[in-house]
Amino acid sequence: MMADQRLAALRRRLAGEDAEVALVTTPANMRYLTGFEGVFDEGVNAACVVSAEVARFYTDSRYEVAAREAATGTPWAVHIQKDSMYVEICAQLMSEGVGTLAIESSVPYGRFKFISEQFQGRVLASEHWVEGLRQVKEAVEIEAIEAAAGLTDRAFDHILAFLRPGIREVDVAIELESFMRRNGSEGVAFDSIVAGGPNSARPHAGVSRREVSAGEFLMMDFGARVAGYCADMTRTVVMGVASDRHRTVYEAVLAANEAGIAGAKAGMAGCDIDAIARDLLGRAGLAESFGHGLGHGLGLAVHELPGVGRLSREPVRSGSVITIEPGVYLPGFGGVRIEDLVLVEDGGVRLLSHAPKELIEIQ
Ligand code: ZN
Ligand code: ZN
Repeated sequence: MMADQRLAALRRRLAGEDAEVALVTTPANMRYLTGFEGVFDEGVNAACVVSAEVARFYTDSRYEVAAREAATGTPWAVHIQKDSMYVEICAQLMSEGVGTLAIESSVPYGRFKFISEQFQGRVLASEHWVEGLRQVKEAVEIEAIEAAAGLTDRAFDHILAFLRPGIREVDVAIELESFMRRNGSEGVAFDSIVAGGPNSARPHAGVSRREVSAGEFLMMDFGARVAGYCADMTRTVVMGVASDRHRTVYEAVLAANEAGIAGAKAGMAGCDIDAIARDLLGRAGLAESFGHGLGHGLGLAVHELPGVGRLSREPVRSGSVITIEPGVYLPGFGGVRIEDLVLVEDGGVRLLSHAPKELIEIQ
């Protein structure tokens, strides 16, 4: 049923764009269109071919059993490649007299060029055809994101009891990730960021072997994955006793996070949601220290549409799941980011992250 509706939506787009066939090879887009579970691992080699009449799923023998099982009872026909997948797809389309093929603009240039050379018809680049559908979530998707967010909240609770001054960033990351996996996460949604002291002043610091001392911020950005769907949350704590400077920065970021959550609602442009938090930090004299966008859409991918940054002019639609994650980064001192997941609704947003946000000191 789910796959039927998603296919129907892509077919309407095809008709509207005057293209006969859409070739979809981005794993998250394939997963969304087919609804298949247990097929799309990191290295998956597959393609979806969709026209008004057909829905074909191409993959190789490694995925044959999983794909045939997943496709049972769906509109999808599974084809196992014998030779080169794109050569076979193009040959079949040409033999059927297809004249126009839409290829996702996000595919690597080499693949785009190769397919364009194989297919002797008109080729056009489709931009965000499936991503555009993915940004408004169905109930079943929201359920999965909520489950991932709940597990992420629990991991934060768990880590609070584990933290102590002098702990290494890497040990915190391993503990967070193993907690999530032991409790039902499919791997992790993305590489965790665990950054202490001066490292926390780098928004995407990663994880080092450095020990985090008393008197330093510790920023943790992590997320579980459930049924393919991501969670994404950041919390920042203080090791030992917080100084006045820690408190000032923390309170400013928390106020920006809460203002963003209170002010966001469906129909606003991403940049206008961003501006709520950015203006507040600006009034605190911290605008220069907030370099990234306020948030991003999230779903099967940890970063997807809609954009929620300074350049995001598109309206955020009801049913989107986005992050609200203001941050302030002070080189040499440290940084604070507080990130929550929210479901955008008509009159406001529903909070999906429930981990505590008051300033926590780890003694
Ligand atoms: Zn994050
Ligand atoms: Zn994020």
